[in-house]
Amino acid sequence: MRLLLLSDIHSNIEALNAVLEAAPEYDRVVNLGDIVGYNASPNEVCERVRAMGGLVVRGNHDRACSGLTDLSEFNLIAAMSARWTQTVLSEEHTAWLRDLPEGPLREDKFPSAEFVHGSPRDEDEYVLSTPTAAADLQLPDHREFIFFGHTHLQGGFIYDAGRTQAFVPTYEEAASGVLSWTMALRPRLRYMINPGSVGQPRDNDWRAAFALYEANEAGLDQVTFFRVPYHVEQTQAKVLAANLPERLATRLGLGR
Ligand code: ZN
Repeated sequence: MRLLLLSDIHSNIEALNAVLEAAPEYDRVVNLGDIVGYNASPNEVCERVRAMGGLVVRGNHDRACSGLTDLSEFNLIAAMSARWTQTVLSEEHTAWLRDLPEGPLREDKFPSAEFVHGSPRDEDEYVLSTPTAAADLQLPDHREFIFFGHTHLQGGFIYDAGRTQAFVPTYEEAASGVLSWTMALRPRLRYMINPGSVGQPRDNDWRAAFALYEANEAGLDQVTFFRVPYHVEQTQAKVLAANLPERLATRLGLGR
């Protein structure tokens, strides 16, 4: 089984299109939330995400942009973008976002994994540090794999015999300009895996991020992390044309 892992697309259709073009073959898509917010193509992104099907977990921006939560928890720029999204998003996409399930989600076919936006303990938790990850990886009903998003940072954490360590991909570049890094997943260890953000990476790399998880009958599972160049100037131009804050355009070019 091959799972295509997408997270934090954030209304960036240029990045999503580039990711889907570069993605290897897969059996099912898992979307870890924040489909909308920040950038300027919420309807186009909802359209494409809905057409792909698969498993979708809701994110905090999906809640805010569909009117499920008020914007008091958001910073000024995020709130301005959420308000703008509410005004342009079609009624149908708004209703679809509002009905998305809260994580953790699980799949019968993949009982060793769970899928969350923030963390298994709290859909809005940012898992940025080893102590936070250690607490999530040692929950009484923990799974072998926790796939998460929300931080916009590609990589994650490994739990091995009482110790938790962070990891980041060390990419190899292909002629196509797509970077990738494959990590073998060892049995008996536990992992928190973040595919990174498709539409607003924050790890100082502007390229769109995603991942592919591959389960193998011999128990040799692996995850491959990808970085894909996309037409970022086009996304920035749309952000500015929509009169969204300029900072949302500049941060895309910096990957921050
Ligand atoms: Zn996000």
